[in-house]
Amino acid sequence: AKERGRGNFQFFEAHLTERARERLFLEGELREALNRGELQVHYQPQYSLADGRLIGAEALLRWRHPDRGMIPPDKFIAIAEDSGLIVPIGEWVLRTACHQARIWAEAGKGFQRMAVNLSGAQIERSDVLAAVGRILAETGLAPQHLELEITETYIMRQAERNIQVMEALRNLGLTLAIDDFGTGQSSLSYLKRLPVDKLKIDRSFVMDIPQDANDSAITRSILALGHSLRLTVLAEGVETAEQLAFLQELACDEAQGYYFSRPLDAANFDGLIFG
Ligand code: C2E
Ligand code: CA
Ligand code: CA
Ligand code: CA
Repeated sequence: AKERGRGNFQFFEAHLTERARERLFLEGELREALNRGELQVHYQPQYSLADGRLIGAEALLRWRHPDRGMIPPDKFIAIAEDSGLIVPIGEWVLRTACHQARIWAEAGKGFQRMAVNLSGAQIERSDVLAAVGRILAETGLAPQHLELEITETYIMRQAERNIQVMEALRNLGLTLAIDDFGTGQSSLSYLKRLPVDKLKIDRSFVMDIPQDANDSAITRSILALGHSLRLTVLAEGVETAEQLAFLQELACDEAQGYYFSRPLDAANFDGLIFG
């Protein structure tokens, strides 16, 4: 039994080493990815459910590695956060998305806002307020066209401190959305105090509505909660007409998901704006 335990331990260690090596490799490659032009921003359209109109987009980072092909964000965002690379990469995403948003907003076709994911690590490791202000000035994007998404889990980790940063960001004139809402555990008392404009219902709940009674109940209560606090509520990960109908019946304000469109590169999103 002892030997077996040892063997397992060695296997575990070798496995960890393999993972550590992979992480180290990806971190090195990611360090170069910006300079080598391997990063791209894709845009997933967001729709108003009241009238079905395209109203904005969420900017989503893509990494096309020369040997490995597309590496999904789930595989490298955490590495970028742990290494601090999320700071320059996040600023690049923000600059790219703001530049693009200005073009689409000025097209006069109803494009109102670009949503950009803000990692907790960016708030912790950099002067994110200064960076956002600088990038808005640089790109000439009016702040009301920018929305920053922060995950519920991150906000709640250091709620008091984050509330201050969020208030300062919001004072720039942009809007704030709580991402992956329902998966963290914000108490009602905090939620009431958070300087936010929107809740994004996490895809894990939307996935099984209307069949799953629990997920339907959760979705219903997030909508009731959001609306009672006068927040806009967006459902993410909408894939089917049934999900959409259920959300419309509950007066959900906005949605995004494969039912409408996958994330598109800028050229393809142009097609939605300019026809
Ligand atoms: P997220 O912010 O929750 O973004 C939504 C994710 O759901 C995106 O995955 C999107 O492609 C996917 N999605 C949208 N609609 C559907 C649908 O109908 N069905 C399914 N199955 N999936 C859908 P993606 O692009 O792989 O991004 C994963 C996560 O990586 C994001 O989750 C976000 O947390 C992070 N991420 C992506 N880009 C950035 C970035 O620029 N900065 C930071 N900090 N994080 C980012
Ligand atoms: Ca997001
Ligand atoms: Ca989300
Ligand atoms: Ca998510």
